[in-house]
Amino acid sequence: MVDPQRSGRGPLGVLLDLVLPRPCPGCGGPEPWCSGCAATLSPRARQVALPEVTLDTAADVALPVVRALARYAGPVRAAILAGKERGRSDLPPLLGLAVGTALIRLRRIALVPDEVWIVPAPSRRAAARRRGGDPVTAMASAAARTMAAAGIVAGVAPCLYTQGRARDSVGLDAAARTANLAGRIRFRRSGAPPDGVAVVLLDDVLTTGSTVVAAVRALSVAGIDVICGLAVATAAPWRADR
Ligand SMILES: [Zn+2]
Repeated sequence: MVDPQRSGRGPLGVLLDLVLPRPCPGCGGPEPWCSGCAATLSPRARQVALPEVTLDTAADVALPVVRALARYAGPVRAAILAGKERGRSDLPPLLGLAVGTALIRLRRIALVPDEVWIVPAPSRRAAARRRGGDPVTAMASAAARTMAAAGIVAGVAPCLYTQGRARDSVGLDAAARTANLAGRIRFRRSGAPPDGVAVVLLDDVLTTGSTVVAAVRALSVAGIDVICGLAVATAAPWRADR
């Protein structure tokens, strides 16, 4: 029996978890996120080529390498959308487990150090509340737990937030939506990582990369360098040479 106190979801949420079917968003099978669909997330995070238009806006920023685990398509896209928009709060931690596995691999090939702090890219707060929690923060927490279990010192630093009234994103295309969000990313000291640690910026979907640019800029102003941008899925192409 699930303990409602420990799950943090309250008795009704726990009850709904027990009675509502949670089919795999990728294939409709009976498991919440079946092994076949989970396998479409690669443990090898590949480098993404940010669009030229985005790079043109980033002349003042030392952009890190940006990587992703999958193309934004198929089961991965379905799982991200179900976690974000259809209340499947069980899915972001499962995607975060794959993020943790990818970071463990990056540690093994010495692309990240022994201690890593994950900064979740911010979503609009009102939207996150309405959906019952921020999925990217849930992914980051699950990734950090996965890494800690493998002996890597890992933490989550929720130090970015969005400010200002959210423009309704209905009717905006993906590029306009990320630009709309990116312009309002701010840093707060309260959630900051310890001084001098390696920071990975995590987002669920990379579209234009304008969120990455704005987030790296906000962190850089606060004196925090990002060693790697990581997205679960990318709509931008892979870098040809990696
Ligand atoms: Zn499936």
